[in-house]
Amino acid sequence: MSRVYNFSAGPAMLPEEVLQQAKEELLDWQGTGMSVMEMSHRGKAFMSIASQAEQDLRELLDIPGDYRVLFLQGGASSQFAMVPLNLLGEKRQADYYRTGSWSKKAIAEAKRYCAVNVVADTEGAGGFTTVPDEGGVTFSAEAAYVHYTPNETIEGVEFPYIPDTGDLPLVADMSSTLLSRPLDVRRFGVIYAGAQKNIGPAGLTVVIVREDLLGRAQPATPTMFDYQTHARSGSMYNTPPTYSWYLAGLVFAWLKRRGGLAAMAETNRRKAQKLYHAIDSSDFYHNPVDPACRSWMNVPFTLADPALDETFLAEARAAGLETLKGHRSVGGMRASIYNAMPEEGVDALVAFMREFERRHG
Ligand SMILES: *Cc1c(COP(=O)(O)O)cnc(C)c1O
Repeated sequence: MSRVYNFSAGPAMLPEEVLQQAKEELLDWQGTGMSVMEMSHRGKAFMSIASQAEQDLRELLDIPGDYRVLFLQGGASSQFAMVPLNLLGEKRQADYYRTGSWSKKAIAEAKRYCAVNVVADTEGAGGFTTVPDEGGVTFSAEAAYVHYTPNETIEGVEFPYIPDTGDLPLVADMSSTLLSRPLDVRRFGVIYAGAQKNIGPAGLTVVIVREDLLGRAQPATPTMFDYQTHARSGSMYNTPPTYSWYLAGLVFAWLKRRGGLAAMAETNRRKAQKLYHAIDSSDFYHNPVDPACRSWMNVPFTLADPALDETFLAEARAAGLETLKGHRSVGGMRASIYNAMPEEGVDALVAFMREFERRHG
């Protein structure tokens, strides 16, 4: 068996230990004689898997008791609709930060349900290479909530602060950053994340919602799109994505064994610093993002000569470094270095980049 370092933005690498454990338990989970995939979601075995996963996630993020954790399907993209449907209440407007490709999509979907007030737009000159100044944003009295994307996965731009929205519920699409470091959940009304970046396999979407925001869905909201439906039923109103939930639980347990999110933050910061240093210390590589808001998780970079892109990708692949091609909207390269990317993977990429520059620079 030979595994590569996979820099995919998502679905992304999972910890090898987790995959090994899943393999060992695949045919017979703890003496039940069944695979987790074959179990009733309402049976004792799966209920214990589900509640342990939630308990571990709560512990990792120190989630307060007045927040509910929902294990849903539909991806972060469904949340683009679920957020307005659940939070608008009597209001007809919401405030949105426009800081990259994913917040643009969230805005486009919200516009189907309400007026969107764009409180900050960083597309301007640099094309999504920075975030708004912390104090420079005014929220609207008419807004039901404020939405932002703390880590723009495609552009590699990350907020170094949490916006202070006062009494307005703050909603965050944390698909590519949740669990990368400790987080003060109390600052948020709703946090959501598709699992396939930093949590587990695709098919699972984690939503953390403050209890007082439940039960306010628009009357025409589909039952499955109402947070209250899932909060009331322990995310078992219908069949949940059981195997993805189980694997996410194995990832949570792995994170705890590794020392939790403070330990992950240390490693993640070091991984990102190594890669940005390699880029910045060379004229051969370039990252356009303002250094104050560069992502720890997604690192886009270009080569001075784009004619070398294909050679770079082919030689990287030959060296066991996969999926480094940048998003089609940005071009160049992108290295996603989530929790499951070992530091050795980043070291291997940096060594490859130096060697490639030596031969082609
Ligand atoms: C990947 C991603 C999405 C889309 O997630 P799906 O689960 O595919 O719907 C949305 N927002 C961000 C920030 C992402 O990184």
